[in-house]
Parts: sequence; C-alpha cells; structure tokens
Amino acid sequence: MVGGRPRQVPGKCWSRVTPTPAPSPTLALWSTEMAEALGLERTDKAGVVLGGGAPVAGMQPYAQRYGGHQFGNWAGQLGDGRAITLGEVETENGFLELQLKGAGRTPYSRTADGKAVLRSSIREYLCSEAMHHLGVPTTRALSLVTTGEQVVRDVLYNGNPAPEPGAVVCRVAPSFIRFGSFQIHMSDGHHQTLRTLVDHTVRHHFPDHDVSTDDGIIAWLTEVAETTATMIAHWMRVGFVHGVMNTDNMSIHGLTIDYGPYGWLEPFDVDWTPNTTDAGRRRYRYGNQPHIGAWNVARLLESMAPLLDDVSRLQPVLDHYMEYAMNAQSETWADKLGLGVLQESDEPLVNDLLTLLGASEVDMTIFFRLLCSVTKPDVGHFSDAFYEGREPSKTAWNAWLGRWWERVNEEPDRATMRKTNPKYVLRNWMAQLAIDSAEEHGDFSITEELHELLKRPYDEQPEHEEKWFQKRPEWARHRVGCSMLSCSS
Ligand code: AMP
Ligand code: MG
Repeated sequence: MVGGRPRQVPGKCWSRVTPTPAPSPTLALWSTEMAEALGLERTDKAGVVLGGGAPVAGMQPYAQRYGGHQFGNWAGQLGDGRAITLGEVETENGFLELQLKGAGRTPYSRTADGKAVLRSSIREYLCSEAMHHLGVPTTRALSLVTTGEQVVRDVLYNGNPAPEPGAVVCRVAPSFIRFGSFQIHMSDGHHQTLRTLVDHTVRHHFPDHDVSTDDGIIAWLTEVAETTATMIAHWMRVGFVHGVMNTDNMSIHGLTIDYGPYGWLEPFDVDWTPNTTDAGRRRYRYGNQPHIGAWNVARLLESMAPLLDDVSRLQPVLDHYMEYAMNAQSETWADKLGLGVLQESDEPLVNDLLTLLGASEVDMTIFFRLLCSVTKPDVGHFSDAFYEGREPSKTAWNAWLGRWWERVNEEPDRATMRKTNPKYVLRNWMAQLAIDSAEEHGDFSITEELHELLKRPYDEQPEHEEKWFQKRPEWARHRVGCSMLSCSS
C-alpha cells in the first residue's frame, strides 16, 4: 500500500497514498451541475475512478496531515484518515480539488478503517449541495459511489456494532486546508514547515495577499476571521448546527466542511445539538456557534505566532472577529425580520423574539417563512408552525407581532425576507427517508428528489409543499439519525 501504515509523520503536510479500490463500485449519484462546473463528463469509467479504483493520468493522490482541538482539547496529529485527494481541476473559477471520502486507509487512519457508510455519505452529498443553494459557503459534492462492501459501525457507540453498506463521496473545494493544518506545525515546533504552508496557501488561494510582512499576515488572517464569521452567521440564519466544530473541521476558506452529525433546528432551541457525543456539555449547540468560531479563530491566530515579529498584533484580529460576527448576526436578524436598515431599538425586538421562540415549541423554518406573508399581526397566521400540545401564548405572541408590525410600518421588506428565510431545508428526517430507501431497496429516487427540491430552497414550489414544507413528524422525534446522531460515520 502506497502511503504505508498509520503512523506519526512529523514535519510533513501530506503523504502520497493510493486509494483502495471499491470491490463493486456503482455510481449512484452524480451532480450534473457540479460536473459541468468542473468540465467533467460522466463516462462508463466514472464509478470506478470515483470509487477509488483507477486514478487517471495526472492524478497524484495524497492524504493531508493536520492536527486539531477536538471538543476543546488538543488532539495532536489527526489528518485525512479516510479522505484522499485525487487532484485539482482548473475551472473558470480557479482550481478545484477533488477529494474522495471513504476510499481506504492512509497514514492518518489511526485505528480506523478509512471507509465511510452509505448513510453518512448521503448526508454529506445532499447537505453540502443544499447548503450551496441556500447561499451558505460550503464544500460541494460531485458523486456518490456505493462500494458493494459492508462496513461495521457502532452507530450510537453503545456496544452494538453492525454491518452497513459502504460508499465513497467525491467532494469538491478550492482546498481542504483547515485551521488544524497550520496548528500541527506550531505544536510540533516545525516553524519552517508552517511558513511554507502559509506561503503555499496564500499564493494559491489568496492571491490578493502578500504574507511576507507582519502587516500582510495580519491582513490575511483578518480575511480568514471575516469569512469564518460570515459562514457562521449563515448557519444561524438557516438554523444549521454543524455538530463538530473542532479546529480540524474549520476550513481556511470559511467553508462549511466535514458533514457529520449536523442537524437543522426544527423546534427553535438555542441549546440544541444533534450530536449525541456532545450531549453532556453541548459545546457545539446552535446558540454557541459564533462563540466557538471565536475560540477556533483564536487557536488559528496562536498557531501563527512564530511567523510574526510582533505577536501583540494577533489580539486585534480576534477582537475584529467578535465585532464582525456580532454585526453579521444583527444584520441577519434584521433581514429575517424584513427590518431594512437596523435601528438601536431593534435589539430588544430581536431578543424578545428569540425568548418567545425558545419558550414555545415552534418550527424555525416554518415560522420565519410564514412571517414573510403576514398581513395582520395575529399569531393565528402561524398555527402550522407550532408543534402539537404547545399552544402559543396568544397575548405574548400578538404583543410581539404588534411591535414588529409597527416597526416595519406594516410593510416588511418581503423580498429580502423571502431570500433570507428558506422554505425548504434538509431536515434530518428528510435525509433519513432518503437513506432508508437507499439502504433497504438501493433506491436513490428520494435522494434525487431532495437534491432537486433543495436547488431552489427559496422558491415556493407548491407541488412539494405538502410533503416537504412540514414540521418534524412524530416518528422522527426520537429516531436515531433524526434527533440523535453521533460521529460514527
Ligand atoms: P471527524 O470527526 O469526522 O472530523 O474525524 C476526526 C478524525 O478521525 C479525522 O482525522 C478523520 O480523518 C478520522 N476518521 C474518522 N473516521 C474515520 C475512519 N472511518 N477511518 C479513518 N479515519 C477516520
Ligand atoms: Mg473532520
């Protein structure tokens, strides 16, 4: 095996590897849109190549080495344990990297198998594409190949391992460089490698920057801080909870990366996390994401200290992140509420709404979408948004709606609201229906249907309303994969 057994690889940024061929590869999903952007054609061989079986001329597959803070603790070397980059494609919009997830072991696989299961692969494929169309910065997906092989996983880490079908997703991004890609060299004391990686990253991906001086490094890091804050503001806007915001899962491009036990708020609850592995401390809960972004940016900044003459210049970058993130949040809420230009008195209006939403069991997506079409401030308009058994307090809701109605002079900026409040998101139970059908019958039609639906998340699409513009059904409330997810994938 090129690449060799799992081990420490000090001082390096990557290792050359060969993907392990899938025994019986079948191309189950292919994103025509992504393929067009890459200038790729779907040939008979596509499934074999994208299942890891036959690198084509020009590909020099490698696995990246990185470290990371996992749940707040430094974990040392992690790296691409089951991701293998095939190569880059030059497109109109710059270079895009093609990376297989689940194509076998690498030097960074530690004790694991380097494989991925079908359920998590469908979740990554669908969600990354849905996020793109929601306008959330993200990595993307080109294909999903089923491998014809069974992979054993203990879904809830509770001593019940079972075989599941395996799959390989090909994902796409300018690069898969993470905060942890830099941290590992600072941690190891390999400052020359750190310098080389920063120069490489900036030369290839941030050509407007010049990191030969302190000023240049600070300007580049400021941009990274801003794109990170922007990405998280989008997550908050659409109700997305990443679930594992470890620093190895933070893209240097400010892209949503590594779709694992993510989820979408259904009942609005700032304390919610879909990740059962994090259920105790809830470090990565919805409402904490902007703060964790700051924590992660701080770790990235620390890792750059060896490159600076004056390390005191790092703190202002973090301060800037905080201010930028808070402004992004405020603007997001203003857009969701159709307020137009923000006023000082808007803060209590927004905060009171968040309190009310938290106190009621009300569906975030449906609530905000219905808000776009209010014609009088009456909570009756929102009856479809409330979960059963949780009748809204009419007085409190009508009082808030009255304040909002007055604030917008009875004319909320509906066009902005309809572009900000999606009608369709990839609720966990929707993904689960697609997964059940693919696992049980090899039928990907629901996956394809959702892929199409979620290409136009802000359009009304009345033909899909009854089926997919829906609160979480009762069966999904406690179902594994819907309300409970783990890092097992
Ligand atoms: P994640 O929680 O998915 O971000 O993964 C954390 C680390 O574990 C990364 O270095 C992954 O590459 C690695 N990893 C996760 N699952 C596997 C697997 N099945 N085989 C090898 N490495 C894995
Ligand atoms: Mg990861």
